[in-house]
Amino acid sequence: MRPTDLDELAAAIDGDVIAPGSPGYDTARLIWNRRFDDVRPTAVVRVAGAEDVRAVVEFARDLGLPLTPRSGGHSFAGYSTGDGLVVDLGALTSVKVDAASETATLGAGLTLLPTYRALWPHKFAIPAGLCPTVGIAGLTTGGGLGALSRRHGLTCDSLVEAEIVTAAGRFERASEDENPDLLWATRGGGGGNFGIVTSLTFELVPVDMTFTELTYEFPWAAAERLLTAWQDWLSTSPPETWAIIELETQAPCGDADPFVLLEVVHAGPRAEAEAAVAELLAAAAAAPVRAGAHSGPFVDVEHDIFCKGLRAKECALADKSAAGRVPRAALYARSDVAARPWPSDGIRTILDWMERRQRDPVLTPPDFAPTDMVGKVLLEPADGAVNSVAADATAFVHRDNLFVAQFQSRWRNDGSAVADANREWTDGLYFAVAEHRSGSAYQNYIDPNLDDWQRAYYGQNLAELRRVKSKHDPGNMFDFAQSVPPA
Ligand SMILES: Cc1cc2nc3c(=O)[nH]c(=O)nc-3n(C[C@H](O)[C@H](O)[C@H](O)COP(=O)(O)OP(=O)(O)OC[C@H]3O[C@@H](n4cnc5c(N)ncnc54)[C@H](O)[C@@H]3O)c2cc1C
Repeated sequence: MRPTDLDELAAAIDGDVIAPGSPGYDTARLIWNRRFDDVRPTAVVRVAGAEDVRAVVEFARDLGLPLTPRSGGHSFAGYSTGDGLVVDLGALTSVKVDAASETATLGAGLTLLPTYRALWPHKFAIPAGLCPTVGIAGLTTGGGLGALSRRHGLTCDSLVEAEIVTAAGRFERASEDENPDLLWATRGGGGGNFGIVTSLTFELVPVDMTFTELTYEFPWAAAERLLTAWQDWLSTSPPETWAIIELETQAPCGDADPFVLLEVVHAGPRAEAEAAVAELLAAAAAAPVRAGAHSGPFVDVEHDIFCKGLRAKECALADKSAAGRVPRAALYARSDVAARPWPSDGIRTILDWMERRQRDPVLTPPDFAPTDMVGKVLLEPADGAVNSVAADATAFVHRDNLFVAQFQSRWRNDGSAVADANREWTDGLYFAVAEHRSGSAYQNYIDPNLDDWQRAYYGQNLAELRRVKSKHDPGNMFDFAQSVPPA
């Protein structure tokens, strides 16, 4: 590449080319996960519209530069940054609601909280994820689990159309009528594989009822009973009730126990929500040490749960925007999609690892504050309407699920003994429960160390995905460590 090439690109597009040395480069290159803070792209191209995306694709193709799309920047494995050009779609935030057809076309740079807020005046939503700063494009292309998914399915199940710039530098409409194979692949075939999505059209779901949020904290002694009862409760509870279990260690390390959280979102009034949860608590014989309840409009409940008291403009990533106060963290995670309940020895193994972690001063140094995130095991429902779609109807193959188990370590920054110890702990737990894992993994919890990742993410749909890849990206321009290879 000649030194003037980036200047020519900058002159050709409406957006900005942010190269090393430019003001803002050290902010623009960051993604959510601090583990990738040292990655220095050739340039971050902050596109102003879909036409800019096309121009960047052609530029990168002509010069043979690696090209990486980025929307919300939440890839667990850092797959939305790299050494070449990063196409930052963050400015593509348009929202067009068509009330008659109950659909909305969303710019691919939107993150979740602004999406929920933009759709709320119409009393609609899309069944999307939990974290306010996750990008709609990455979430949808990898599936999309959240508080509405037991009732309405995955985010990708509501996708009816997408506009995609392919490696050929062409706009392609992916719909049932045009390029249906590309629509199929965009519904769960994994971000960054088939081109750059510039907009997504979704069928909307009504959220005009009262929503209720319940939060409970339980003593550690109840953990085993709760996990067991929760797995059984999933098959009898109403799809309107979504409940995630989180086991968490706390900082500083020491003799205190880890703790158990149950977070519930129910599409309905408080009495209904409490009745659904009462069955779980009775089965677990568990009494919370703390409980909170809040009923209100969908958008307020979403905001309250995930923005933890922040105002809307603060509910954006710290370090990336002046007002943003959602902390970035160094994260390492492994996951498994469970089709059947885990037996008690599997649960016991998880609890043992959490208890040991709680006492370990290397994993959680004494100077970590209670607000520092540490070790987590999350069990989130992936059943209900998610399972009502055939495994080959979309690229998202996991359609016989109970829950997704996620084993997470978070720490402050990378490159230290703390980081090494946390990665080792997460791998240790993951291997300790090997006999209980299904071997399927959620492609949105993308895991660079996963063996046989093609089968784990895509199962029987892999061959068709590779065919779609060959058709729309025959030269494998969109190539990264876990990209779908051409057939
Ligand atoms: C804190 C946190 C909370 C999360 N919560 C949830 C949750 O509630 N539910 C859930 O299902 N998942 C959740 N995830 C996982 C999340 O779905 C994935 O990390 C997802 O890929 C993030 O999308 P993004 O746009 O933010 O990420 P990015 O890092 O921008 O992109 C992810 C991948 O998609 C590609 N990509 C991005 N934009 C485009 C585009 N426009 N066109 C083509 N490819 C593109 C990137 O190149 C990359 O490979 C969470 C992750 C984190 C870190």
